This record gives sequence, C-alpha cells and structure tokens, in this order.
Amino acid sequence: MTDQMLTEIAARRDDLIALTQDLIRIPTLNPPGHNYREICAYLAERLAKSGFKVEMIRAEGAIGDSVKYPRWNMVARHDGGAPGDCVHFNSHHDVVEVGHGWTKDPFGGELEDGKIYGRGACDMKGGLAASIIAAEAFVHLYPDHKGAVEISATADEESGGYGGVAYLAEQGYFDPDRVQHVIIPEPLNKDRICLGHRGVWWAEIETKGRIAHGSMPFLGDSAIRHMSAVLAEMEAHLYPLLATKRTDMPVVPEGAKQSTLNVNSIHGGEAEPEQGFTGFPAPCVADRCRIVIDRRFLIEEDLGEVKAEVHRMMEKIKAERPEFEYEIRDMHEVIPTMTDKNAPVVTSTAAAIEKVLGEQPSYVVSPGTYDQKHIDRIGRLKNCIAYGPGILDLAHQPDEWVGVQDMQDSAGVMALVLQELLVS
Ligand SMILES: [Zn+2]
Repeated sequence: MTDQMLTEIAARRDDLIALTQDLIRIPTLNPPGHNYREICAYLAERLAKSGFKVEMIRAEGAIGDSVKYPRWNMVARHDGGAPGDCVHFNSHHDVVEVGHGWTKDPFGGELEDGKIYGRGACDMKGGLAASIIAAEAFVHLYPDHKGAVEISATADEESGGYGGVAYLAEQGYFDPDRVQHVIIPEPLNKDRICLGHRGVWWAEIETKGRIAHGSMPFLGDSAIRHMSAVLAEMEAHLYPLLATKRTDMPVVPEGAKQSTLNVNSIHGGEAEPEQGFTGFPAPCVADRCRIVIDRRFLIEEDLGEVKAEVHRMMEKIKAERPEFEYEIRDMHEVIPTMTDKNAPVVTSTAAAIEKVLGEQPSYVVSPGTYDQKHIDRIGRLKNCIAYGPGILDLAHQPDEWVGVQDMQDSAGVMALVLQELLVS
C-alpha cells in the first residue's frame, strides 16, 4: 500500500513542479495583499476539477481587509462518504516583499538543478503544492476513504493571520467537531515535525518627563534619562534573569531555548527631521520616550508572571528616581502551545517520515509563532503540527528556493498520513 501511494506521488512529479511554478507566478505580496482573489480562484478551479467541494471566503471586516485589498481565502473539502475524522492541510498563500539581492526572477518560478526559485517558493507555496498533490493522489487511490480531507489556502499569515486562519477559526472552520487533525506545511525540513511555538508578549513602555530649554535641563525632567535607567536595569537584572529560564520544549535554534526579550524600537524627544532638512535641532529636554518590547516566553512560564516581572522592574526604578512616571501598554499576546507527541497526527507523520526517508524524525518547537496560534486559541483544536518541505533559513531571503525532491518526499509523507488516518 505504501509503495502504491509513493508511486502515485512520483507519477505526479511534473504536475507538482508546474503547480509550484504557477503559484509562484501569482505575486501575492503582503503588504498590501496583492492577487489574493486570483490565487484562491486558481486553486478553487483546480481542486473542483479533482472532485473537491470548494469555497471562496472573504474575511470581510477583518484587520487588513479593504475593498482595494480584500482578504480572500479558499477552503476545499473531499468527503469520502464513510464516517471518520477530517484531516486538514492549511497553508498561507501570502508572501513577503521581494527585497534586494536577487539573481533570479522572484516571480518567474525558474527550475534549475532540481530547485524552483521565487518569492514564496519555500515559504510556503512549495508546501501548499505538496499538500495538494498528496490530497489529490490520495482521493484518486481511495475515493471512498473515511471522513474528509481538507485543504485551505489562507491570507495574511505574514502579518498576523487575522484575515486568514483567525477569521476562518472564528467562523468555526477549525472547530474540533469539524476538523480533527491539522498539518501546516511550513518549511521546517522534510524530516522534522514542529509541535508548536513559544509565547509572545508585545508591549510599549513609555517614560514621561517635562520639557524645558536644553541649556537648562535642570528645569525639566528628561524622559530619555529615565528610559536609560530602564535599559540599564534590564541589562543588570532582567536579561540575566531571562537567561536562567530554560524550557524543556525542543525549541530550535538552541539560543531560543531560554526566555528572550528584544527591544524592538526606541523613540524619544524631538521627532526625526524630514529628509533633506539641513537645520539644527531645537534645544529641548525630552518629555516622552517609548520603547516597544517583544518578550518571547516558554510553556513553563505564566503570562501574568511575565508581565509582573516587568512591572516590578519599573516599580523598583520608580522607588529610586524622584519624579519617575511611566506607563506600560499591552499590544499583543500569544500563549505558547505544544501538541502532544502521542497525538495521532504526530505519530502518523513520524511513521510516514520513517517509511519515506528511512530515518527517525526530529521534533522541534518554533521560536516564533505562526498560524497554529489561531487554530489553538480560537479553534480550540490541539492536534496540530507544522510539517513541510523547504529550508526555514531560506524563508524571506533573496533567491528563495524549494527542492523538487524535498517537495515530492514530503508529499509522500502527507499522503501516507492520510492513508493511515482515513483508511483502514
Ligand atoms: Zn510561512
């Protein structure tokens, strides 16, 4: 049975290449969100021909959705006719900006030495194409399978997923009574299973001061000096504390196995002069200074405690500095998630990797989040992994590519997972 399935996938290699090239040639740049309708319509037409029931869903009113740039999503479903679980493959169809340094046409889909080049080749049109080939081959061999196979292509993963997976989850598409297993073919290498991600807390910290003439700073109160006290406290105590917090999650790379904090930006005092302005700045004491922090936390940590750490630090500084005033504004938060290694979607993917590649898979957790967060939080669905072809480091880089053999191998893995979960 395994051989027959893999033969079926191998026979579709040219189709896999052509499909990947077609997808790359529809430039779904985000921002602002170009050609979302075009790529969804292309996929809907193809999957309808393969016997899937297709839906085009616009995330009307979601963050990022507008008349000019509507957030379109596509969901295709194949019911086998017998009761059983639903296995859902979710890919985002948006790609990030091209950037500089390309030697290939970023939307050409050029095939050279077994690699297909283009923006989104690895992140993640190659994974999307692999999952479609897997699903089509599977329903061809087993038209009367148990349960259902679903494929979705969704908007805006690169900008938070609110017009994509979050919207579909709110509409009930990922409810546990509708979908039982989810695979997100993000580029994590064909021999790795990604079980989840760390948590996120974004916040803005503002220190307040009082404006005065720069020649008499003692008449004012510098918000920038207050902020430098905050940064000094972070260096002296907070960063060393975070370094002691280690997780048992298999996070890669190694440096992300601890709690981390990035100061994303700092702004204080007078605004930056406009380009071309040749005058001097006006001498003023800064009355406002703001930083944005990006705190990534571990499954062993509690979000309340993560925030309390920063609040305690600020209170300590306040006790030491007269007139110190500050504000902390929450911007965004995501709870860490990790799927159980014994979940059927994990064990069946692990067994399929062994059959196709002849090696044991490795299990990883992502340092940053991806659309699993919405499936977990809004959809309340825990049986979710990321598994797909492509090398993560190539994502968002110039001359991004995906290997044809990697796509074929991971399509084979995905098809065997369907066989394991939906045929008996
Ligand atoms: Zn991606």
